[in-house]
Amino acid sequence: MYDLDSIFGSNGELVKHIQGFQPRDGQLSMAQAIERAIEQHTHLVAEAGTGTGKTFAYLIPAILSGKKTIISTGTRNLQDQIFEKDFPLIREVLNVPVQGAVLKGRSNYLCLYRLDQAKMQISSFDKQTDAELREVERWSNQTKEGDIAEVTSVAEDSYVWQQVTSTADNCLGQECPMISECFPVLARKKAQEVDVLIVNHHLLCADWSLKDDGFGQLLPDAELIIVDEAHQLIDTASRFLGVSVSARQILSLIGDVSAEQLKLASDMPELIDLTHVISEDIREMRKVLPEPVIKGSWDELEQGTDFLQALDCLIERIEQLFKVLTKVAVRSKGLEACWKRSEDVLLRLKLFSNQDQHDWIQWFETYQRTFTFYRTPLDISKAFASFAFASDASWVFTSATLSVNNKFDFFSKRLGLEDAETGSWESPFDFVHQSLMYVPTGMPEPRDYHYTATMIEKIIPVLEASEGRAFILFTSHKALKEAANILLAETNFKLLVQGDLPKQQMLESFRRSERAVLLGTASFWEGVDVRGEALSCVIIDKLPFASPGDPVTKARLEYMAANGQSAFSDFQLPSAALTLKQGVGRLIRDVEDKGVLVLCDPRLSSKGYGKVFIKSLPAMPITQDVKDVKRFFHRINSQKLSDKKHVIKSA
Ligand code: SF4
Repeated sequence: MYDLDSIFGSNGELVKHIQGFQPRDGQLSMAQAIERAIEQHTHLVAEAGTGTGKTFAYLIPAILSGKKTIISTGTRNLQDQIFEKDFPLIREVLNVPVQGAVLKGRSNYLCLYRLDQAKMQISSFDKQTDAELREVERWSNQTKEGDIAEVTSVAEDSYVWQQVTSTADNCLGQECPMISECFPVLARKKAQEVDVLIVNHHLLCADWSLKDDGFGQLLPDAELIIVDEAHQLIDTASRFLGVSVSARQILSLIGDVSAEQLKLASDMPELIDLTHVISEDIREMRKVLPEPVIKGSWDELEQGTDFLQALDCLIERIEQLFKVLTKVAVRSKGLEACWKRSEDVLLRLKLFSNQDQHDWIQWFETYQRTFTFYRTPLDISKAFASFAFASDASWVFTSATLSVNNKFDFFSKRLGLEDAETGSWESPFDFVHQSLMYVPTGMPEPRDYHYTATMIEKIIPVLEASEGRAFILFTSHKALKEAANILLAETNFKLLVQGDLPKQQMLESFRRSERAVLLGTASFWEGVDVRGEALSCVIIDKLPFASPGDPVTKARLEYMAANGQSAFSDFQLPSAALTLKQGVGRLIRDVEDKGVLVLCDPRLSSKGYGKVFIKSLPAMPITQDVKDVKRFFHRINSQKLSDKKHVIKSA
């Protein structure tokens, strides 16, 4: 039996088994806190700065506890990384016979039944889909897990995946002739048998809310639940506790109704008539919704009588469909499934026409030809807390960004975790010597028409000093485009602009290219890991306050004000501080990394709340003089040169 010192310490098992492993006090202390939470059966909110090594800090006490553990991550990439890299490594170091598995959502597994169906329709596919389907078929004969990520030769967004994977709506379940070989079923079965199961937040919330892929099978058995990238859990949980209904969902339903009618209900021509009129109703609904592709508030829609009429009409027609399907549902499994789906769509649509929107935000999104209606809960704290505290498991929530100004209230309150223990383990990196924060002077107010142009003027000398190797992170696409145009006209850096290439290709190109400058918005603020000299400068255009024009944010702010809370200090400020912390976290990823952070927003020094942002970031030297930035890069370049000479001499 081990104690944690003998694993994480300077002569511990990790040092002995992993080449280059650096013992870190913070990692040991975090592992001890998690061990205590497991032993005392409590919940822990644990913030771990970049480089703490939080994965080992939770994985090791979890494995040693012998408890049935679920680890939930924000992304599939992290799921795969833990399962393929960290888990086998720790199992080997600890030399314990613990079993693990990764479980993904249904759409990540091949559906053998749908593959068979697709093969029958192969003549109707275009050349590319035809070739990809043959590729998938070849792979289907060898795969053991049926995880479609194994097929690297077919693009992730290929049409073929829609054809050969299932959804909760179209899966035949127990009636399926292929259920005994079914990959999603086998994956779930395995998931229930292992000691450590790695899922993602989507699946965790689905299981909890019994929606989509959720069967409520995973959580009841768990004795320990570790939520990594926990800052992302609130949004995922809100989505699952909410309700949505989309044009696509209705069109898919009527498509399946038509197919079933042809096979088994040809004596019911009214079914086909209904599918035609519903399809027309969807077109009509799209016409009365705002023309551009936007996200908007429900209040806007309710002001138009055309919209209310279109909604009533759609509800009435789906109700008719439901009634006709009630008569024929007994004829086949397929018709029964359509009947259930029509009832589900009907109930959802009726919720949207309900005037009582208290505690909910109703909003919509329009696309070129379709639309989605959403109903999002304003507060999930009670629902989540009653679920988490009712389960027998200990919960650990961890991430690099959970606290604001050294307080966890913002995160804890939103999940109802006020009674949980909290702990913070700072990054082991030496930010004082590895980094510098530059806050340029003379910037106009963020709303000023010339803001972006002035910002570019201020940062060009920084980019020259860093020789590119920079990320510029924006809070809006408009500013990104304007900045890209100016930089293109006035500089010769290699610009990588979000939208020109897929994200991974952009990052690859950034790592390989000299004088590269990457311009990105939200998706580059987190989950991006570029180590070493390639990324030596992170520039942030504005403090990332959520746009009050966004319907969800707007409704939340109004709700808070109506409930006597300060929307700014209780929501906008902490939320922006956490986003900034994520963005800044891109800069120093390793003990060897060195770099400059540029925060262009003048509110950082002109407003009292600027201090909250600064205090939420790792302590680093701050300057308002660009000469210090030049000196910083000069110093690290000289250091590099002298290191090189030293190596040549020693050789
Ligand atoms: S049970 Fe569902 S997922 Fe499995 S093979 Fe059948 S239809 Fe596909």
